[in-house]
Amino acid sequence: MKIHEYQAKAILCRYGVSVPAGIACFSVEEAVLAAEKLAGDRWVVKAQIYAGGRGKAGGVKLAKSVAEVRQFAEAMLFAPLVTHQTGPQGRIVHRLYIEQGVEISHEYYLALVVDRAMQCVSLIASEAGGMDIEQVAAGTPEKIHKIRIDPLTGLSPQDAEKIVCEINLPELCRSAAITMLGELYRAFDENDASLLEINPLIVTPDNRLIALDAKINFDDNALFRHPEIAALRDPDEEDPLEVEASKYGLSYIPLDGDIGCLVNGAGLAMATMDIIKLYGGNPANFLDVGGGATVEKVTEAFKLMLKNPDLQAILVNIFGGIMRCDVIAEGVVAAAREVELAVPLIVRLEGTSVELGKKILAESGLTVISAGNMADAARKVVDAAARHRAEAAIREG
Ligand code: GDP
Ligand code: MN
Repeated sequence: MKIHEYQAKAILCRYGVSVPAGIACFSVEEAVLAAEKLAGDRWVVKAQIYAGGRGKAGGVKLAKSVAEVRQFAEAMLFAPLVTHQTGPQGRIVHRLYIEQGVEISHEYYLALVVDRAMQCVSLIASEAGGMDIEQVAAGTPEKIHKIRIDPLTGLSPQDAEKIVCEINLPELCRSAAITMLGELYRAFDENDASLLEINPLIVTPDNRLIALDAKINFDDNALFRHPEIAALRDPDEEDPLEVEASKYGLSYIPLDGDIGCLVNGAGLAMATMDIIKLYGGNPANFLDVGGGATVEKVTEAFKLMLKNPDLQAILVNIFGGIMRCDVIAEGVVAAAREVELAVPLIVRLEGTSVELGKKILAESGLTVISAGNMADAARKVVDAAARHRAEAAIREG
C-alpha cells in the first residue's frame, strides 16, 4: 500500500526526522490560508498523487508570494498531472501540500528497501540525489552506495557512518545524518514498510539536514498490524475495482485484455493467464479467489469481472483442493442471476466435489461451455471471445 508524501512526512516527523513545516489542503482557499499560516516568504506547492516525477511535470512549484501560491494551487488542483510514472492519462490531483520553502545547498538520495536478491533490508544512498536519480543509477552506478542491514541487529552506527562518509556529507552534518539514518530505519522497521525513500535529502546553507521529499510503501500482508496506516488508504488514488476486490479479500488486478479469469490460487491464476496468451488471447484480469472462498466471495469476484466493458468471455478455472467445486459453481450461478451474463462462460472444474459442481452448473439453466483440461479451456475461451467480438461487430453494423 502507498500513502501520500505529507502522510509519510508526518510519520517520519514522529521518529524525529526533520521535514519542512507544511499543511495538507483540499481546496485553493485552504492552500492560501495554509501559506498565510506558515511563516516565511517562500512556499512550495506540491501535488499529492501516488506517483513520483512531479517536479519535472509541474507538480512541485516554488511560490514567492501568497498570490503565487493561489495561482499554482488553482492550476494544479483537480487537473490531471502527467509524470513519467503516471502513464499518459495522468492522475487527477485531489490534494495539495503547502510547505515552507527551504534553501538547498545540496541534494542527496536515501532509501531503505526490502531487497529480495539480498534477502534483507538494504540501505541505498547517493550524493547525486534529486530529480535525475534514475539517470545516475543507469549512467554512473558507482555513485550509488548500498549496505545490507542485518535484520537481527538493525542498522549499526558503524554502517550508518560508513555510508554517510561514502556520500560525502559535510563533516558538520555527519552526526545528525547518522542519527537520522537510525530514525529512518526504525520508522521502516516498526511500520512494516517495503520501501522508504527520501529524494532529495538536503543540506541547507547553514548545514541543516532535511527530508524534502518522502515516499513510504507498506507490506500489504502486515497492514493488519497497523490499522492507523491502513486508514490512510486514499481511494481516489486506487483503481476502484481493486478497492472493491480488497473489501472481499480477493486478489484482483485489472489488465488490458478481454478474457476474464476466475481462478483459485495465485500460481494457477498465473498459469491460466499464460496459457490464454499461448493460444492467442489476452487476459482481462488476474483474479485469485483464494483457497477458502465462500459463495459470497465468488459471487463478488464474478460481478467484479463483469464490470469490465471490454470483456468478451470468461474462463473459470478451478482446481478444487480446500476450495470445493460446488462452492464455485454456486457462486457463479448466484452472480449470473444477479448480473446479466452477456458473454460466453467457459468452465474447467477439477478436484474436490467436482461432480456436484458440474451438476449445479448443468441444472442452473446457464449456458456453460465445459472444458476438460487447461489447454482445452484456453482454446475454447479464446475462440469464444473472438466469436463474441465478431458477433458484436455484426450487430453494430
Ligand atoms: P518529485 O519530483 O515528485 O520527486 O518531487 P520532490 O518533492 O522531490 O521535488 C522535486 C524537486 O523540487 C526537488 O528535487 C527540489 O529540487 C525541488 N524542491 C522541493 N522543495 C523545495 C524547497 O523547499 N525549496 C527549493 N528550493 N526547492 C525545492
Ligand atoms: Mn522526490
